Amino acid sequence: MTDAPPKGWVSLDGVLKPGAAVGDYAARAQRVIGTCQAEGCKRRLVIDADDLVRAGFERVRMSEVQRLARCARLGGCGLSYHDEEPARRLRLEHCQGRAHVRLRLRCDGNGCRFYRVWTVEEIVQGLARRGAGDERTPVDELHAKLTGQCPVCKKSNWRADVLWLNTDTTGWKQRGEEWFADVAAKRPA
Ligand SMILES: [Zn+2]
Ligand SMILES: [Zn+2]
Repeated sequence: MTDAPPKGWVSLDGVLKPGAAVGDYAARAQRVIGTCQAEGCKRRLVIDADDLVRAGFERVRMSEVQRLARCARLGGCGLSYHDEEPARRLRLEHCQGRAHVRLRLRCDGNGCRFYRVWTVEEIVQGLARRGAGDERTPVDELHAKLTGQCPVCKKSNWRADVLWLNTDTTGWKQRGEEWFADVAAKRPA
């Protein structure tokens, strides 16, 4: 990919997602905390992706590390994990200024299928006009800043996705920016 997504992020079917590998967690500066709920086990575990990268596990999936870290005890392991907030967040400035990147705002109201595709610049300008944000705004905070009504269901229940197309593909070479229409129409399940 000539202009790959920011480190720690991957484009899956054209939609940016946090990468699942240990190296992706390290790039996002994101820790994983495990706490064991098994009876009599008070184990608490902090998985530091930087340590794992130094040990050569950059490409291993975090889910695999979590599996290997299970408690070895009779009666089984009750470890449950949660991802902390990443210290290095994906911000609008990491996405702007690219012909092959757009934002899809979709309505998440009761079965509503409305969505619209915007350039990152349009979104930044819209936020700045309302004093609600700027290019430093994290992408995962965007939905809370979008207060306008959905034109279909009249509710305000937005979700924002970054569409990041791979410019090395024939799809991009033949369709260019028209390709966004197809990618955006495939809604997440
Ligand atoms: Zn345990
Ligand atoms: Zn709607």
